[in-house]
Amino acid sequence: PPQLFDVIVLGAGAAGMMCAAVAGQRGRRVLLLDHNDEPGRKILISGGGRCNFTNVHTAPDRFISANPHFAKSALSRYTPQDFIDLIAGYGIAWHEKTLGQLFCDESARAIVAMLVNECEMGSVTPGFGQPIRDVSHADGRFRVTTGAGVAEAPALVVATGGPSIPKLGATGFAYDLAKYFGLKLVEPRPALVPLTLGPDDALFRDLAGVSAPVRAKAGKGVFDEAALFTHRGLSGPAILQVSSYWRHGEQVAIDFFPQAQSGWLTEAKREHPRATMRSLLARQMPDRLAEALAEKLALAGELANQKDAALAEAERRLSDWRFRPTGTEAFAKAEVTVGGISTAELSSQTMEAKKLPGLYPIGEAVDVTGWLGGYNFQWAWASAQAAGRAL
Ligand code: FAD
Repeated sequence: PPQLFDVIVLGAGAAGMMCAAVAGQRGRRVLLLDHNDEPGRKILISGGGRCNFTNVHTAPDRFISANPHFAKSALSRYTPQDFIDLIAGYGIAWHEKTLGQLFCDESARAIVAMLVNECEMGSVTPGFGQPIRDVSHADGRFRVTTGAGVAEAPALVVATGGPSIPKLGATGFAYDLAKYFGLKLVEPRPALVPLTLGPDDALFRDLAGVSAPVRAKAGKGVFDEAALFTHRGLSGPAILQVSSYWRHGEQVAIDFFPQAQSGWLTEAKREHPRATMRSLLARQMPDRLAEALAEKLALAGELANQKDAALAEAERRLSDWRFRPTGTEAFAKAEVTVGGISTAELSSQTMEAKKLPGLYPIGEAVDVTGWLGGYNFQWAWASAQAAGRAL
């Protein structure tokens, strides 16, 4: 006979563990399943092993979704301060790195250990290291078959995340389930991912390792952060951020001088007439990048010999340098997935599927994707709390 529970949670990552703990501590009998032997593998490697667990600037406009309003409810009911209070109870020390990003002082292991402990406090039954063979629904009950047996419950939480970084055990299982249960998907795409450049931009690919502060733009995304040239294309925080907004075929625009006043190049000609374009650029950016840009601008010789109109045109190009990426480094290198289970199918209060009461998709599986910098974990915690309190 099947084992009976009140709730079965699929996926023991950030969202699944938080949701299981909350439901368990509210007295629900919870089974938490994962095909990995250990829970929270993505948490362990996150933030370079220190887990950027939230961002103090969390606000709905830092999340990408077909419905930008959807995340408001959950985010407002479980805030970064709530998570800070939780880790304070465990004595986990943290610091703000930059742009509101909070990291553990020591190791991401402390976050996983805390979530495991929270699950134990809720008497959650763990079921790790077994593949999920089958999921079905009949007579108001969900039935899940794993290598270890069969379990049934009136509620099923889908917290198996997105397919980013398959080698950590990530799969598109949530999307398969959504299709099986008739829920719409917003096309999943790799996000927070390096972009690749083709032969036209070979000059820039030769700059592998060079980084510079820029303003990068793609679609509706505009970010002032560092860009990094790689031997395959472009990376660094500014590029990872815009990759979430970028679509195949579109250009990425880079402003190499976002803080400069209009007319700064003709001004520079008066101040430094003997300088060359390359030497001028090299005052403000790495030499190799200055060399590559100067070569592309093709203004040889001293600035004194350049026409003002040519300098104005060079200034325009430097503030709006267009790259047409050939693609991304795909799910193998993507930190997250944009798209996922459509929010139109879900209650923003409880995350429950409108068409199928008892089914609760949460976390990255859902079409809500945060910016780089702790926002994705905050969504995992908040959506998990919304479901956990409703279960
Ligand atoms: P996950 O944490 O991915 O959990 C999903 C769970 O489901 C996993 O345990 C997986 O094993 C399990 N699972 C998947 N498929 C199946 C299946 N078929 N059967 C059974 N189990 C399955 N975000 C931040 O906010 N800050 C950071 O510092 C940060 N750093 C990151 C670094 C890297 C390298 C990566 C890849 C991501 C990072 N992220 C970061 C993103 C963040 O890790 C995710 O957004 C977050 O983990 C999503 O939580 P989740 O619970 O929805 O999914």
